[in-house]
Amino acid sequence: MEQTEVTVIGAGITGLSTAYWLKRKGVHVHVVETDNRVGGQIQTQRVKHYIFETGPSTGAVSTPEVAELMNDLAITSEGRCQLETAPDAAKRRLIWKGKRFYDLPSGLFSGITTPLFRFSDKLRILGEPWRKRGNNPNESIASLTVRRLGKSFLDYAVDPFISGVYAGNPDKLVVRFALPKLYALEQGYGSFIRGSIAKMKEPKTERDRLATKKVFSAQGGLSQITQAEADYIGKENISLGVKDVRINPEGNGWITTFIGADGQVQQLQSQWVITTCGAYNLPELLPFVDKKRMDDIAKLVYAPIIEVNVGMPDTFGGDYCAFGGLVPTKERQKLLGILFPSACFTQRAPKGGALFSFFLGGSKHPEMMEKSDDEIKDIVTEGLHAMLKFPLEAKPDFINISRHQYAIPQYEVDSEQRLSAVSSIERQYSGLIIGGNLQDGIGMGHRITQAANMVKRIIKPE
Ligand SMILES: Cc1cc2nc3c(=O)[nH]c(=O)nc-3n(C[C@H](O)[C@H](O)[C@H](O)COP(=O)(O)OP(=O)(O)OC[C@H]3O[C@@H](n4cnc5c(N)ncnc54)[C@H](O)[C@@H]3O)c2cc1C
Repeated sequence: MEQTEVTVIGAGITGLSTAYWLKRKGVHVHVVETDNRVGGQIQTQRVKHYIFETGPSTGAVSTPEVAELMNDLAITSEGRCQLETAPDAAKRRLIWKGKRFYDLPSGLFSGITTPLFRFSDKLRILGEPWRKRGNNPNESIASLTVRRLGKSFLDYAVDPFISGVYAGNPDKLVVRFALPKLYALEQGYGSFIRGSIAKMKEPKTERDRLATKKVFSAQGGLSQITQAEADYIGKENISLGVKDVRINPEGNGWITTFIGADGQVQQLQSQWVITTCGAYNLPELLPFVDKKRMDDIAKLVYAPIIEVNVGMPDTFGGDYCAFGGLVPTKERQKLLGILFPSACFTQRAPKGGALFSFFLGGSKHPEMMEKSDDEIKDIVTEGLHAMLKFPLEAKPDFINISRHQYAIPQYEVDSEQRLSAVSSIERQYSGLIIGGNLQDGIGMGHRITQAANMVKRIIKPE
């Protein structure tokens, strides 16, 4: 039986970042992955002269840990993995209303003049600092937004934002779990506006300043990050393409049993086991956990997403210099939104061309997953002409469709039960850490930060 100090389950960004930092700190680690490649949801592809993502497109440098990981990877990969941040010109966020996209306001003047929000709500926002603090710990994002900002802000700012980030439903997502920083602003300062101003005035350390909030990828695409992590961890410490993974406590440690890619049963003995896979994978993986607590974890709902990348050789003079456009539910369109990756990063499209990523489905339209590829292509082609205003003669170089049944976890009202089940299992079984996107946030920045925090539980900071 092979021995290691830490077994990590899953070679997505959470598992790889955890294993990378552990190895950086001299800990012997082994990663076990059912897929036959690393990266998990992250997968960069190349077609002709385009580079596109079939999973996440961009992350945010939301915490110092993200910047620290990227800086460190640039060193250990000897420059092969380099951070790329989006230029300021690509900051614009567009929102669909009626028959065209409008800029989401970013300042006072555009906030007053935008046709996206009702005049009464624009006036209402002036009273936000004096509105009463909420007292329902399970308040939904929709309820909080209407209460503090007004219905048109829900319809034309928050609803499309939630579609873009969670592919979710603001009526169901609970603010405390899904947007904890926003919840803390209201609870801590009594107002988003007062809280944001106070936060801006707070002194920042050199390390805090690393969290630039900038939109990031890596030169050549996000797979450069996970590949650089895997290269550093080393092939010999990663088992890919395995089956029937089971973890069981034994003595003071853990035995992980699986069928390797060669069809042979293998076992790993370790002091620690960290899981980073989805909640739906855990019942099979952790057979020793009682049904009640496992049910509380595994009932986490994931929104499905279809992502369609479209390469256009010519922009026909269109202005696609923005992060992308989002479509409010109220507008009753088939698309959730469209990202413009070639405006954010280099090498995404050939000169004169552009790359677009269309999103469909989400928790409000799971039926989209049943559509055939031809039906999806028709919807996207319609969006290309009606929303992005490409002339009818414009023909894409390629259309690539990727379907994700378990794309984004929805932090709804049952999150309390899930989180308490996770901590009670971890308390009962020492050496087991249940990570992954079932808690601590859904974005890549959250995943990297969770990885760093899990490492601190194993190697206590001095
Ligand atoms: C279409 C789409 C678009 C997205 N867009 C963005 C975005 O723009 N920005 C952003 O920040 N985030 C985005 N996300 C979310 C982001 O992709 C995830 O937060 C992140 O990639 C999840 O990483 P992870 O390592 O936690 O999980 P995963 O990437 O899911 O990795 C988990 C790994 O565990 C493996 N596994 C499962 N079961 C087992 C088992 N029993 N044994 C061993 N291995 C197992 C899986 O095969 C997988 O490789 C998007 C997600 C999707 C699907």
